[in-house]
Amino acid sequence: MSYEGDYWDEIPYTGYIALGRRGMESIELTQCFIPGCDNKDQKKLIVYDKEESEDDETLIQTYSIHCDVCDRDFKLSFETIKRVAKPTKVSEGAEDSEALGMGVVYVFDDKGKKYHLGYF
Ligand SMILES: [Zn+2]
Repeated sequence: MSYEGDYWDEIPYTGYIALGRRGMESIELTQCFIPGCDNKDQKKLIVYDKEESEDDETLIQTYSIHCDVCDRDFKLSFETIKRVAKPTKVSEGAEDSEALGMGVVYVFDDKGKKYHLGYF
C-alpha cells in the first residue's frame, strides 16, 4: 500500500456532532471508529482507497481506512449537497456561510453498516 499519508491531506481532520439544543461539538476524524478501539494515532490509520460518486445534487467521497491497532477496516464517507447556482437577482448578497453549506459524515463499520456520525 503506497497511499499512506496521501488521502489524509484531503480529509477534514475535524467534524461536528449535533448536540440538539446545546449546539455542536467538534470531533476528531483522525481516529478509529471501530467500536471498542480507541486508536487516535493518525499514523496507525492507513487510508488505502477512495471512492467518489457524484450526481446533480450530491457529491460523495468515501475513504477506506485500515486501523493498525485493531487490525480492522472502516470507511469515512463525506456527502456534500451541491447547491445549484441559479442566476437570480434575489440571491445577490446571500450569506456566504449559507452558500458554503455543510456536508454530512457517515461511518461504515467493518461489516459495512452505515452510521450517521456528524457534519463537516
Ligand atoms: Zn482500530
